Amino acid sequence: MTILGLESSCDETSVSILRDGKILSNLISSQHFHKKYGGVVPELSSRAHLQIIAPLFKEALTVADIDKKEIDLIAATAGPGLVGALLVGLNFGKALAYSLDKPFVAVNHIEGHIYSGFLMDEKPEFPYLALAVSGGHTLLLLIEDDLNITKLGSTIDDAAGEAFDKVAKMIGLGYPGGPKVEEYSERGDRSAIKFPVAKLKTEYDFSFSGLKTAVLRYIQKEYPNIENIQEADKSDIAASFQDAVVRALRKNVEKAINNFEVKSISLVGGVAANKAIGNMFSELSKKYNKKLIIPDTEFCGDNAAMIAYRGGKLFENNIISDLTANTYPALPKNVFKSL
Ligand code: AMP
Ligand code: MG
Repeated sequence: MTILGLESSCDETSVSILRDGKILSNLISSQHFHKKYGGVVPELSSRAHLQIIAPLFKEALTVADIDKKEIDLIAATAGPGLVGALLVGLNFGKALAYSLDKPFVAVNHIEGHIYSGFLMDEKPEFPYLALAVSGGHTLLLLIEDDLNITKLGSTIDDAAGEAFDKVAKMIGLGYPGGPKVEEYSERGDRSAIKFPVAKLKTEYDFSFSGLKTAVLRYIQKEYPNIENIQEADKSDIAASFQDAVVRALRKNVEKAINNFEVKSISLVGGVAANKAIGNMFSELSKKYNKKLIIPDTEFCGDNAAMIAYRGGKLFENNIISDLTANTYPALPKNVFKSL
């Protein structure tokens, strides 16, 4: 089975071809120009997707060394994401499906991330826990099989990646801030400042806005003139903040490991590239004897291989979409089961 995957939910255009679960190509074109605006500009994102998607598709065929007629199934991200951006990949996919007379399946981006672990040689074993951490989402999920995914908890305010980006901005590290905060953390002292972990009434939810405010207050108090902040201070703030994020994530993941019988634990999404969070997962996997799956960095960020893979699983379960499939900006309420 040869599956074409298309992803255009935010600032990455990606086209991938999977054959029998093996990646023949996974091309990712990142829109680096948003950096100068300090964040993704939706309108510019859509236009950039539109310019690149057809040439990227042709290149993906060349890299995979196949003809487009060999494609058996087309999978494209339908949401959540920026609607104008999503429309580009979704419509490209629907048009291809129509012209090639092949089935089409609209894929939920978060489900794509959850399934990114299956692109690795070591695959998750059901039932497994997945923590999906990205610029837009922070979700703790229990995956029992392809069609039984339960949301245990999610962020009630900022996503983990968003908090990384905002703290990076506060200390002048630029956008996207996550990788920069990690880099500064490596030189800093994580016990320098005790930032808080939110206490919530719900068992598996997260909150990062209080932490973000605590960092802001600390900076305003200690550095009324931000020009005076030294590189070493930035490193300590970054390390202390990152440590608070790790503690917040660990608390809920550990609780879920204790309360649900799972075989594997998986860390996915853009923030999964963070080594401190990865190390925390690795510690938990050893402590509780669970199989650990963290995708390679290429598959942590947005990519079409994960969309193709998830699309294939939906197809195997007789789920296909028709050509009226539409985009959606937010995670639909009932897409995952809840506790
Ligand atoms: P995504 O939304 O899945 O595309 O992931 C992008 C988010 O991941 C952004 O908020 C980045 O700042 C964040 N991110 C990427 N790499 C890292 C890292 N090494 N540490 C923390 N956050 C990261
Ligand atoms: Mg993503």
